[in-house]
Amino acid sequence: MEQTTYQQDESFRDSINTINQQGGRAYVHPRKPKGKLHRRRLVVSWVLLATFFGMPWIKYQGDPLFLIDIIHRRFIFFGLIFWPQDTYIFAVLMLTFIVFIVVFTVALGRLWCGWACPQTIFLEMVFRKIEYWIDGDAASQKRLAASTVTAEKFFRRVLKFSIFLLIAHLIALTLAAWVVGVDAVLTMLRQSLSENISAFTGLMILTAFLVFIYSWFREQVCVILCPYGRLQGVLLDRNSIVVAYDYKRGEPRGGFRKGEDRAAVGKGDCTDCRACIQVCPTAIDIRNGTQLECINCTACIDACNATMVRSGLPKGLIRFASERMISTGNRLRMNARLWAYSAVLVLLLSFLTFLLFTRADIEATILRTPGLLYQQNDDATISNLYNIKVVNKTREEAPVTLKLLSHPGRILMPSGDMVVRAAGKSESVFFVYLDPQQISKTSGKIPIRIGVFSHGAPIEEIDLTFVAPDVKK
Ligand code: SF4
Ligand code: SF4
Repeated sequence: MEQTTYQQDESFRDSINTINQQGGRAYVHPRKPKGKLHRRRLVVSWVLLATFFGMPWIKYQGDPLFLIDIIHRRFIFFGLIFWPQDTYIFAVLMLTFIVFIVVFTVALGRLWCGWACPQTIFLEMVFRKIEYWIDGDAASQKRLAASTVTAEKFFRRVLKFSIFLLIAHLIALTLAAWVVGVDAVLTMLRQSLSENISAFTGLMILTAFLVFIYSWFREQVCVILCPYGRLQGVLLDRNSIVVAYDYKRGEPRGGFRKGEDRAAVGKGDCTDCRACIQVCPTAIDIRNGTQLECINCTACIDACNATMVRSGLPKGLIRFASERMISTGNRLRMNARLWAYSAVLVLLLSFLTFLLFTRADIEATILRTPGLLYQQNDDATISNLYNIKVVNKTREEAPVTLKLLSHPGRILMPSGDMVVRAAGKSESVFFVYLDPQQISKTSGKIPIRIGVFSHGAPIEEIDLTFVAPDVKK
């Protein structure tokens, strides 16, 4: 990563503060964050938590508004049903999402991590809040962690892990509802354990995993696991807006003395109170400059602003700013890289919109039945057998009829007319009969075209091959 600070000694980048010299875990007990930005983050997280827990309950025309049914490869977004046949739309959607993340990160750093990432939201706004409520602030937590097992410690630990377990299970159930739908989850909960043993086992494993993540592994997800975090090194540049320490204003740092003229004694505005480090959930010192561990949670901004107010100094010693803004005092500028990424994003968004608007509601796939050649019938016609698969993405039943468009022959579906249920798919077989006299080519593979219709309206035209014997005209 580009150096983004006045610091010459970069040795702090050689190790992470959450792992001790022996390679063991250095457990972080950050001080309880408070301040204007924290209150805003709380509001954002309440909205996101309400969305996560509430969305599976919202239905549109009998189906969930959102569903990520990986098992049956059926997805619903804003009420629109997507099938594996729409994979190309997903591919473009994923590409658009990745470019969006890149543009977002180049411009605004790791804002997503601190304000919207589920890991941070659950850890900082749910599990850590419960921990502060049960174990107290950082000092009390450290004291409790270092103490031997007393009745008080035992009670607090049992209470905390029981609540953690309950919430983790609720998250696991909600995740299941996003995948199979809330009705399926409720049905499963009403049934006996033996009827859904594999589903219950999966849910228990997920619950245990979540308890492990939110009670022990915690910020290590952001620091050493998350691939997005690793990308920061290549995405951030001097113009990216990140949580930054204004070293021009803060240095040289020095202790606070009431009534002292700091400029006159050669001190910058940083009073070296270390409040920014104490509140940091990844245990870093933001005064060292932008670091991979920083999740832009803004806790240090609130903590430093509180120190500035107490010391009678202007707020904003730590703030959202780019390195260039701090070193030059300039405002944010769009650079060529940002313009280029934005242009690609606009193009992809336009293409995605086009795909969504032109997506077929009913899709048919027809293939000649493998392994069969042709049949010569008593009435002198020749027939070929075909397989048809129809996907109905609408919420209404779709009757499907077929017409031979290229030749005067006929089509026969032995099982009768095809009717595909709403948001469902159906498969069938049919014969195409051709009169050899009307086949222009006398042998081999004859190209034919079949029209697929529903409610009398054309759905699509499909080109196929009809195999015929060598027939002399
Ligand atoms: S340095 Fe500040 S913004 Fe970054 S993780 Fe620590 S407290 Fe949050
Ligand atoms: S909170 Fe502000 S004043 Fe205190 S050490 Fe951090 S940067 Fe310096």
